[in-house]
Amino acid sequence: MLSVAIDGPAGVGKSTVSKLVAKSLGWHCLDTGALYRAIAVACSRAKIDIKDIEQVKNLLSKIKIDVKFLDGVQHTYLNGEDVSPYLRTEEMDMLSSVTSAYREVRESIIDLQRELARKENLVVEGRDITSNVLKDSKNKFFLDASPEERAKRRYKERIDRGEKVEYKEIYDDIIERDKNDTTRKVAPLVCTKDSIKIDTTNLTINEVVEEILKNIKLD
Ligand code: C5P
Repeated sequence: MLSVAIDGPAGVGKSTVSKLVAKSLGWHCLDTGALYRAIAVACSRAKIDIKDIEQVKNLLSKIKIDVKFLDGVQHTYLNGEDVSPYLRTEEMDMLSSVTSAYREVRESIIDLQRELARKENLVVEGRDITSNVLKDSKNKFFLDASPEERAKRRYKERIDRGEKVEYKEIYDDIIERDKNDTTRKVAPLVCTKDSIKIDTTNLTINEVVEEILKNIKLD
């Protein structure tokens, strides 16, 4: 099976770009952040202390994360319940950013990600796809943009959704998540040598999509 692996920091536009790339190829797109967010939902509901690895480990032994594509759309399940509507909140931003640093959390969903990519041609986006999950993929991309630009994009996205947010809060959140993602010991966010790096700061979404499509090898 073929894959396109796309990594990059928070707010760079990976989800939007990856979905458009997948659509153009006629493939599904796996948003791996949703798996970490589903684990975050489990942590929040169980009201555990996420700083305590023993509590997190205990919780992991009781949960099963799964993914299905229905009409081309990813649905993410926690113990059989579709938790997709609860994943994109500020609480899950922070909980997933912290808990994804634990080796046990990452290992609990690595087989699922690889299994999904074995079953069908897939675009997979995340933080450790090029460096770890699908490190043998022939199509590896790293999207980047300045923190200011990423915060601006997130801010606009949330305002467009009708949310009441402060730019400064979003900027600080991006900086903190960058720190968590790049400094964690297990599978930190890195641009691997064999990834094509695209600085998206001054590019439109379509220009980024075109750049990726131009470089994909399908043989
Ligand atoms: O991409 P998204 O913001 O939904 O990811 C949620 C969190 O999950 C991120 O803060 C990141 O720390 C973590 N993550 C990860 N590895 C991935 C995808 C997401 O560590 N492959």
